[in-house]
Amino acid sequence: MNKKVVIIGAGIAGLAAANYFTEQNFDDFVILEASSEIGGRIKTLPFQKSFIEFGAQWMHGTENNPVYDIAVSLDAIDESIDKADNWYYSSQDGQRLSDDLVEPVQKEAQCLLENLSEMVDENDLSQSIGALLDDLYPDIEKKFEGEMDSSVIKGIFQAALNVEKFENSCDDLHDVSANGWNNFETLGGNLLTNNKYGYGKIVDYLASKLTGNQLKLNQAVEKIDWSDDEVIITAFDGKQNKRYKWICEAVLCTVSLGFLKQNHYELFEPKLPPNKIDAINCLGFGCLNKIFVVFDQDFEPDFQGLQVIWREDADFELENSKEKWNLDDLDFCRALDYFEKLPNHKNVLLAFTVGSYSEVIEQLEDDCVLDVISELIEKCFAHANLPRPVKIIRSRWSSNEYAKGSYSYFKVGSSTDDVDALAQSVQYRLYFAGEATIYKHLGTVHGAYISGYEQATKILSIIEDE
Ligand SMILES: Cc1cc2nc3c(=O)[nH]c(=O)nc-3n(C[C@H](O)[C@H](O)[C@H](O)COP(=O)(O)OP(=O)(O)OC[C@H]3O[C@@H](n4cnc5c(N)ncnc54)[C@H](O)[C@@H]3O)c2cc1C
Repeated sequence: MNKKVVIIGAGIAGLAAANYFTEQNFDDFVILEASSEIGGRIKTLPFQKSFIEFGAQWMHGTENNPVYDIAVSLDAIDESIDKADNWYYSSQDGQRLSDDLVEPVQKEAQCLLENLSEMVDENDLSQSIGALLDDLYPDIEKKFEGEMDSSVIKGIFQAALNVEKFENSCDDLHDVSANGWNNFETLGGNLLTNNKYGYGKIVDYLASKLTGNQLKLNQAVEKIDWSDDEVIITAFDGKQNKRYKWICEAVLCTVSLGFLKQNHYELFEPKLPPNKIDAINCLGFGCLNKIFVVFDQDFEPDFQGLQVIWREDADFELENSKEKWNLDDLDFCRALDYFEKLPNHKNVLLAFTVGSYSEVIEQLEDDCVLDVISELIEKCFAHANLPRPVKIIRSRWSSNEYAKGSYSYFKVGSSTDDVDALAQSVQYRLYFAGEATIYKHLGTVHGAYISGYEQATKILSIIEDE
């Protein structure tokens, strides 16, 4: 089968590229998508009378954000603001910590993060965010000395850094390069803008512009042979149990960095150029998961969430779950420390889990995770008087064959040059897009969208020049 251009992947980058082609009245292309649905790491699921998001939820910024602009055109911005701010804090042994203790330390940590960019040495690729924070931490401890134990101060401080770990989908902020972190561009406007109907609405809108047979689902690309002028792509059709070959002039590969890390050697024939392989190896790709903890009754309107503060000097035990599920150790529970109420579901707490413990949790059975979370909440937050949750619904991004994790981050040792190397086209035949290929907006939906659009522009200008 012949097409001028083959796009691999129907995530937001692939769909943005297709959208550009359609806008330009260029229709000689096909999208090959391995899974049975579009969207990739955008995955909106219907739930109760609304939806939940397994992947992306927010539009990070409203200015110069093409994804936000689409949402506006679809009247799909959620303007409602959830004002609840009543959090319960507790150490892992069940000791309640008052807001008066926790929130001032949280504020100091936040302030530190906001000013961290001034400390970054642009020439030092070995500098990590974690190391910078280590240097600054003693001042925070001094500030609160006498008001609380140092282990409490440290625990609150570490918990306040969680959001940075979520944003980088990393295990440890000592893995995150300060240099790369500083090169991320924050867009203007609300950084946590919600979609009224879920992110899936945007993806569906883009896909609705495709005509005829331009989108092929269940087509797992196994080989990209670019040894000749024409590129030959072999894809396995999971429905028909057959392999097909596609011949094209240019291929736009939008698969995740996680997929590339695991498969680039087998995927490309000949192998990719060394600078691209180095970039694939040295950029970070982590795992962030969401666990929706469902209760059979709504929470009080002013209740916002639960946060466990892990203290170095406090014990932790979950006897029942440990015995019932034969759990050797409970270290992974450190990732279960943050539960927040959702704006569109009054009976659900959303837990974000990140890093290697998140991967461990992925391997546990749903009922085990439910038991662990139930016992943890019961032990740590007895004072909150919450009922026992009835079920969990969760993502498993690390085990997802076509994602292999959540999103990219600048690992120590990597730089913006690596992202540029990943984005570089090869011999006007191989093109790359996706969130990992745009350092100013790494790890975001709008970044993936912009990269897809830009690469499609490049491809079309080359094809038209021929
Ligand atoms: C839990 C989580 C929360 C997030 N939250 C946010 C957020 O709030 N805001 C935000 O901006 N971003 C967020 N992100 C990041 C955002 O979802 C991604 O950056 C973005 O969706 C990536 O789009 P993409 O097109 O680059 O890749 P993908 O969406 O991964 O698309 C790639 C496509 O390629 C397909 N594919 C892979 N291999 C093959 C193959 N061999 N053959 C054919 N097809 C293949 C995949 O199935 C997939 O559909 C989040 C991500 C996760 C996981």
